[in-house]
Amino acid sequence: MLNIVLYGPPGAGKGTQSEKLVKAFNLVHLSTGDLLRDEISRATELGLKAKALMDNGILVPDEVVIGMIDNKISANPSAGGFIFDGFPRTIPQAEALDALLASRNEKVNGMIALEVPEQILRERLLSRGKISGRPDDQNPELIQKRIEEYQNKTAPVAGYYRNQGKYAGIDGVGEIEEIFNLISQEINKLQA
Ligand code: AMP
Repeated sequence: MLNIVLYGPPGAGKGTQSEKLVKAFNLVHLSTGDLLRDEISRATELGLKAKALMDNGILVPDEVVIGMIDNKISANPSAGGFIFDGFPRTIPQAEALDALLASRNEKVNGMIALEVPEQILRERLLSRGKISGRPDDQNPELIQKRIEEYQNKTAPVAGYYRNQGKYAGIDGVGEIEEIFNLISQEINKLQA
């Protein structure tokens, strides 16, 4: 199995790259943001609770996203591997992911981090919001809050994988295809 954590701040291009990577490497894409938006669109109890936090740019509780990921891993027993997008976003989530995979005799093979300066993130998110209609991409204050949540709670997750020798940083500014090639090179190294 090949398990990749695709990491980076909101607007780094994780979703765009994941779409291409799942096809190229035959992996299952697990985005906690997408899973939560699906809960919201179905107006589930979980979705209603998550919406209140997401509309304020705040992370939802660890146990909620860990439970969703656990379910999705179980639902894909024959997957060749997973791309984790937007997860783990906190150290407890990273520890939980290690435990979930270890219980299946699997592990995270590597973290690939898309590095993008903050000003570019703000611009990308605002232009994405015009197309996608995502409420959290349309409000500059909310975008700022999400970047702060990232810096405070998610940035330490990079160190967690760096300490395990699993971190690879990629320049996330440039053409989509060019960035895809850089990520693919890193994945090929992990498979070698
Ligand atoms: P995203 O689509 O990854 O940008 O996520 C949108 C929103 O969903 C975030 O601002 C959080 O409120 C919530 N969210 C997504 N993934 C997670 C996660 N792993 N942990 C906590 N909250 C999350």
